[in-house]
Amino acid sequence: MADIKLKINGMECTAPAGSTILQAAKLNNIDIPTLCYMKEINEIGACRICVVEVKGARTLVAACVYPINEGMEVITNSPRVLEARKKTLQLILSDHNKSCLSCVRSGQCELQTLCKQYGVDNEHAYDGVMNLSEIDGTAAHMIRDNSKCILCRRCVAACAKTQGIGVIGANERGFKTNIGSAFEVGLAETSCVCCGQCIAVCPTGALYEKDFVDQVVADLNDPEKYVVVQTAPAVRAGLGEEFGYPIGTNVEGKMAAALRRIGFNKVFDTNFSADLTIMEEGTEFIERVQNGGKLPMITSCSPGWIKFCEHYYPDMIDNLSSCKSPQQMFGAVTKTYFAEKMGLDPKKIVCVSIMPCTAKKFEVGRADQSAAGVPDVDYSLTTRELARLIKRYGIDFTSLPDEGFDDPLGEGSGAAVIFGATGGVMEAALRTVVFKLTGEKDGSPIVFNEVRGVEGIKEATYDVAGLKVNIAVASGLANARKVLDMVKSGEKNYHFIEIMACPGGCVNGGGQPRVPANIRNFNDIRAMRAKALYSIDEANTIRFSHDNESVKKLYAEYLEKPGSHKAHEILHTSYVKRTINK
Ligand code: SF4
Ligand code: SF4
Ligand code: SF4
Repeated sequence: MADIKLKINGMECTAPAGSTILQAAKLNNIDIPTLCYMKEINEIGACRICVVEVKGARTLVAACVYPINEGMEVITNSPRVLEARKKTLQLILSDHNKSCLSCVRSGQCELQTLCKQYGVDNEHAYDGVMNLSEIDGTAAHMIRDNSKCILCRRCVAACAKTQGIGVIGANERGFKTNIGSAFEVGLAETSCVCCGQCIAVCPTGALYEKDFVDQVVADLNDPEKYVVVQTAPAVRAGLGEEFGYPIGTNVEGKMAAALRRIGFNKVFDTNFSADLTIMEEGTEFIERVQNGGKLPMITSCSPGWIKFCEHYYPDMIDNLSSCKSPQQMFGAVTKTYFAEKMGLDPKKIVCVSIMPCTAKKFEVGRADQSAAGVPDVDYSLTTRELARLIKRYGIDFTSLPDEGFDDPLGEGSGAAVIFGATGGVMEAALRTVVFKLTGEKDGSPIVFNEVRGVEGIKEATYDVAGLKVNIAVASGLANARKVLDMVKSGEKNYHFIEIMACPGGCVNGGGQPRVPANIRNFNDIRAMRAKALYSIDEANTIRFSHDNESVKKLYAEYLEKPGSHKAHEILHTSYVKRTINK
């Protein structure tokens, strides 16, 4: 596209035709603040924080939606612009619960940052009547506190556009406008899938995960309890951001060290059960292909996706793999095999998981997830909660040495760690399925480039032992919808589909550190975090799930073989048909 020449703050600039002032300014290293704007998701020009002066225009214009044109002259920092932004912030604060001291977002709140930046020294400038709001804590995974909502509607757009769900929107009109579910019912009464993508984009403390840090601390201090922790693959690629590391830094070693210093009895790795998942899921896939089972088979690692399928595609439940997710498999193995090995009462084991995900909080309470007669997993904490736990314990994270995980549930292959990126589960499964079907280790492929990358939908056909295997990978539930609709209409004929609820996969899960819009809008955090996982895979000497020695031992000592009766009892689950309640 042809470049347009314009002046911004007196400097000659160029930007591609079709750019907005915001994009043109960014390209020329000039920052314009935003609040409601989220690239490609919420471009509504509503909050007026991004206003700028355009020569010839009578009013200030919203840079996020105003297109550039040849010869345009823009001022982004005149006294009029700065005063307007300050007034907008003061007006927002006039109906805001300003309890920054105890707010979960304090220090990372986009509103707070802008208030500091624009010299809002009197947050009570426009005090008056305030909206009354109630806290919605009905859902298993999150809290909505509208007293801190600034009506930017980013959450509404994430739910409707990214996820294709739309269970939240604006209720009432004018001053009384508030964001919530239709008819103001609690979120738990809707067909929300608990993905947390609304939380990830919220600029303030209005949306946050249900926090179980206090409960975990209480169990850590209970001498009767044996507290085991597992960490999901994507957490190691995100946690560092909470401690000042660049996006996509692998902090696996420091994370293990921090968990040990907090006092967990065992510091294990969900990578172990990711490998176990591949053994079970790969076996299930081969079995379905060879015995005329239900195809396409669809992965079941992502609880947000599972809940979505149950609500919106209940007729496709039989397509889901019956494998529990790695989080749940881990808990099930801990409270059966590991408990027996260690002579521990499963009732006294507390299994804590650290996940990049909020839907896992819902998953721990699902039926048919209690292999030892007690819940497989007791608490599922997000990456953000882990950061809070580390900070509460006064651990200087950056100065920790790198440490490894404990045996025997701490071993994971390179195939397991890429579960955290979209296409990773498919690639891990293909590594093992191709090996099993061709029976050749040497020369069995490791890298399947077609399923890598952040595209929302990826497809490929592989020739496996004379069989043409059509696969698809989708991330983000709006993309999942497209794939499923193509399957239902007969337009596509896949054998195996990977679906992750969050766009880009778990690296971009609803429980990962929140990245402010001014970074998120101009960087692909999905690719940056995924890169860290692919590097870990590449550096691992074991890259096939079936080569994980601890997993082999688990089968030899306890589960017999993948897909055995005992493996099914412990590692597999069932699903329920749900209705759509908007
Ligand atoms: S949302 Fe931001 S401004 Fe509001 S109380 Fe929390 S930290 Fe303070
Ligand atoms: S958790 Fe997901 S499904 Fe639920 S309201 Fe938020 S974005 Fe929508
Ligand atoms: S809850 Fe958060 S994302 Fe949603 S409208 Fe309010 S401030 Fe914006």
